[in-house]
Amino acid sequence: MLSQDGPRRASRLPPLPQAQPLARVWFDDRLIGAADARIGLTTQALHYGSGVFEGIRAYATRDGVAVFRLPEHLERMRIGAALLGLAFDPALATAAIRATLRANGHGDAYVRPLAWSGEGDFGLDVAGHSQHFMVATTPMAVHLAGARTRMSVSPWRRNPARSLPPLKLCGGYVNSILAKAEAKARGFDEALYLDADGRVVECTGANVFMVRDGRITAVAHEDALPGITRDSLIALSGAEAREVTLAELREADEVFLCGTAAEVAPISALDDRIYGDGPVARELAALYARVVRGAESAWSSWLTAA
Ligand code: PMP
Repeated sequence: MLSQDGPRRASRLPPLPQAQPLARVWFDDRLIGAADARIGLTTQALHYGSGVFEGIRAYATRDGVAVFRLPEHLERMRIGAALLGLAFDPALATAAIRATLRANGHGDAYVRPLAWSGEGDFGLDVAGHSQHFMVATTPMAVHLAGARTRMSVSPWRRNPARSLPPLKLCGGYVNSILAKAEAKARGFDEALYLDADGRVVECTGANVFMVRDGRITAVAHEDALPGITRDSLIALSGAEAREVTLAELREADEVFLCGTAAEVAPISALDDRIYGDGPVARELAALYARVVRGAESAWSSWLTAA
């Protein structure tokens, strides 16, 4: 609820990392000042969500700035772009991402490439619309802020894969926005999607893991985004991937979320179920932190120099 002193209180808070102004951005074929970017009001993606994006992270390592699992992120983006009829070249995107990171002098950073269907008429056919590509980078933005997350089962269902494939298509994220807003309105940080049979799907921007008797399980579901962090954690921990019910999640010793932005984020509560300290998640988070920073040589092939 808005209170009269809301804005005054808010102005005393330190700015969120995400709120920092962008400096240089890649727009179509070159770097420009972010303030110089202009897009038209008939942009099809603005009206209908016909775009595809990625969420990628770069880390300051001992050998310079490196991007974590860049080819895998761009391959996922390529598949989404192809579905939407958008031209997308992973090699050009790689060059644009490296150029933007270097232009902004970032170390730890969040990297956001986006390809979208642009100006044209108000029709749904992407043909006849211009096509655009951008890359923005911001100093590292951890959306779950490293804190232990309080999660609630959402009344919303995740987009079924046969309606919207689990890719990073812009319009699909309206579903995440609805679930996140509903969970926040009830005082939680994150929403957990279940399917009609009570199976766990994922969260609004992260995949789900659980730990029971020391065994790590990655939740598998056909409607969930096949997360690159999830894939990394399965490789690092040997976790089993399988379908999981809500009942199993509530009985687990630990539950944690993972994603590029969230990294490894322990869950402190799932509605009225409170979880204690999570030693397995803590250990995995520490290992993941070493891997992304190039401190585990066995996994250095996951890093691309910026
Ligand atoms: N699920 C959803 C819906 C997401 O948006 C994300 C973030 N990309 C994830 C899972 C985690 O995916 P990744 O590890 O590839 O970032």
